[in-house]
Amino acid sequence: MQLPPTGPTPPESPALATRLAPSPTGALHLGNARTFLVNWALARQNGWKIVLRIEDLDTPRIKPGVIEQTIDTLTWLGMDWDECAPLQSADLAPYREAMTKLAELGRVFPSALTRKEIADAAGAPHEDSGEIRFDASLRPGTLPTTFDDDGTNWRLVVPDEAVHFNDGFMGEQAIYPSKSVGDFALWTQRGQPSYQLAVTVDDDRQNITHVVRGCDLLDSAARQTLIRRAIGIVADPVYYHLPLVRGIDGRRLAKRHGDTRIDHYREKGVPAERVIALIARWCGFAGNPETLSAADFASGLSLDTMSAEDVTFTPEDDRWLLDAGSR
Ligand code: GLU
Repeated sequence: MQLPPTGPTPPESPALATRLAPSPTGALHLGNARTFLVNWALARQNGWKIVLRIEDLDTPRIKPGVIEQTIDTLTWLGMDWDECAPLQSADLAPYREAMTKLAELGRVFPSALTRKEIADAAGAPHEDSGEIRFDASLRPGTLPTTFDDDGTNWRLVVPDEAVHFNDGFMGEQAIYPSKSVGDFALWTQRGQPSYQLAVTVDDDRQNITHVVRGCDLLDSAARQTLIRRAIGIVADPVYYHLPLVRGIDGRRLAKRHGDTRIDHYREKGVPAERVIALIARWCGFAGNPETLSAADFASGLSLDTMSAEDVTFTPEDDRWLLDAGSR
C-alpha cells in the first residue's frame, strides 16, 4: 500500500523528528486522537519532521480498511506529516538483523514456556497491565549465539537495574522492567517482532528524536531503552508521556464508555473544530474554546498549562460534542 505524505510544511530542523504511530487495530477515539494531536502540535511548534508510521504488526487484530480509515481521520482532524515510513509488516529484515545481533551478543534466548508456567514462577500478574513477569530463574542455562526464528518466543535478558530518564512531561523516572515484566518478549512465536523490538528498531532507523505518546507506555520507554543499550544504540529519544483519557468509572476510554470514535462524531455532523476544542479544554487552553482549528491548537498548546492528571470524558462532554452536530 502506498501511503501519501501530506505535509505542506518543510521542517525547520530536519535533524529533529517525531512520529505519529497509530496501530490500526481499531478506529481512532477521543483518547488516542488527543495524544496524536498534541504530538502533531508539538512537532509543528518546534519544527520537528513528522513521520507517519503505521504499526501493523499485530496481525490478528488488524482489520481490513482500518489503515485507510485511520489516515482519513487524522487528516480530517487537520493533521499532516512530512514522510511515511513503510508499513512495518512490509519487511521484517531490519528486526531480524537486530535479533541476530542480540543473539551474537548473548542477550536473547528462546523460551517455549506457557503462560501458566511463567505465571506459576512469577506470582501475580503485573498490576497495571496484566502482564506476567518472566522471572530470571526461567532463563535457559546456556544462552544461544545465533537467532533462529523457530516458532518460539524469544526474550531479552533484562538486567536487574533501574532505567533512569527525564521524561519531557512526567519528569524524572526510575523504572525497573526486571520487577514489572522481567525478561520480556522481543520476537513472537508467530515469526514477528514484538511491539517493543519493532518500535526500538524503527525509532532508531527513522532517526526519531522525540517520542510523544500515552503514559500507559511509560514502562515501555524503559524496556525500549534496555533494548537500545543491548544492541548498542547510543542516542535516546526525548520522551513525552501524556496523561490518558478515562471514562467516569476511572477506566481507560474504551467501548464500554459508549461510542467515542472520532468517526462517530464525524458521522453525526460534528465539525473537527468542535472535537479539537474539547481536546484543547482537556489540554488546559484558557477560555474554554467552543471551536478551534488544528492550526490554532498547534499555536496555542503549552505543556506548562496541561494538567498531569488523567482527563475524564463525561456524558456532558459527549452531549457538548453532539450539540454541534448537524445530524
Ligand atoms: N502504535 C502504538 C499505539 O497506537 C504507539 C506506539 C508508540 O508510540 O510507541 O498505541
